[in-house]
Amino acid sequence: MRSNIKLGRISGIEIGLHYSWFIIAALIVFSLGQHLRQVNPNWTTSQVWIVALLTALLFFVTLLLHELSHSLVAQAHGMKVKAITLFALGGVSQIQDEASDAKTEFWVAIAGPIASLIIGLACLAISIGLGWHRSAEPGSGVTAVLVWLGYINIGLAVFNMLPGFPLDGGRVFRAIVWAITKNADRSTRIAARVGQVVAFLFIFDGIWQFFGGAGLNGLWIAFIGWFLMDAAKASYAEEEITAAFRGMRVSEVMSRDCIVVNRGISLQEFVDAYLLRTGERCFAVEDGGRLVGLITLRDVGTIPRERWGTTTVREAMRPLEQLHVITPDTQIVDALKLMAGNDVNQLPVVANGTLQGVLCRSHLMQLLQARSELEVSTAHHRPLHRMKPRGATP
Ligand SMILES: [Zn+2]
Repeated sequence: MRSNIKLGRISGIEIGLHYSWFIIAALIVFSLGQHLRQVNPNWTTSQVWIVALLTALLFFVTLLLHELSHSLVAQAHGMKVKAITLFALGGVSQIQDEASDAKTEFWVAIAGPIASLIIGLACLAISIGLGWHRSAEPGSGVTAVLVWLGYINIGLAVFNMLPGFPLDGGRVFRAIVWAITKNADRSTRIAARVGQVVAFLFIFDGIWQFFGGAGLNGLWIAFIGWFLMDAAKASYAEEEITAAFRGMRVSEVMSRDCIVVNRGISLQEFVDAYLLRTGERCFAVEDGGRLVGLITLRDVGTIPRERWGTTTVREAMRPLEQLHVITPDTQIVDALKLMAGNDVNQLPVVANGTLQGVLCRSHLMQLLQARSELEVSTAHHRPLHRMKPRGATP
């Protein structure tokens, strides 16, 4: 989830909005406006919409406080937090490091729901202080905002504590399983499986309600279920990859026989002499024996075919400054995270200023598949002997 609109930084964390957030904000304003108009026929139209707008805005603030609680607790435990993005179904904190122990995971996960619960209870308490009775509709604009925020934040805390990974409750559940089993990988798999069950129950309940006459509400619940199912499956798949490559270093799996291309040749020459003849997808670009960038099939695809004759490899490649360089000693798990975070599929492996090889995501996936087909579960840690870097002669 990448933010489309950047709002600023808090404690070094980039705060942003995804476009889909506006859909939910509009829905809140609209449905709340309708409701307020019905229960307060004496209110003026502008009063109704100001209260509805203010509520949506403050809801955004409370959501942000929920995410900030996760992020600040994570920061306090030495974890790096890149960004917080608010989108249609709530917020996400992009915490870059994994919790090193079950206790940290537990506190980072539970901080958000605790914040929502405190905000919710505080809003209701203030409303009661202002003369609101639980059985009645709030009379003034201020209590209307506070009561709605109170209920929605308590609801948010409860919903987030459902034991469906990757919801907060799922993470809390995972931390508890982790503390009991002392096995981080296994606890993630268990939590992701439970998450799929919870998601399935949501979908089932939503469809059940839909046919029971609940209409859009039923579909909404089913949609949340579908989203949770997707997220749980993705967590499971990611965990499989992490577990498979944990402890392994880049030098064990990188391609060492990366073909070197001169930066001065045209794309047409490059396609004819290298791309179509070797079947490789990624090539190193050198200038006087020095690595200056990488060029991939994807980079060639971004240039229109009629310009291949006049565009040089240097113009189409990704320069080294834009690439995140790893060393042979980098953990594969960290390299995969770097790829995901920067939306690239290859990383150049450099040591002492010279290219040692390239790490490709597709290559890692092939390894994983070969392994699962042979049902080899244990990683062998001895690097294979490979050829030294060579240049292709066109
Ligand atoms: Zn949360």
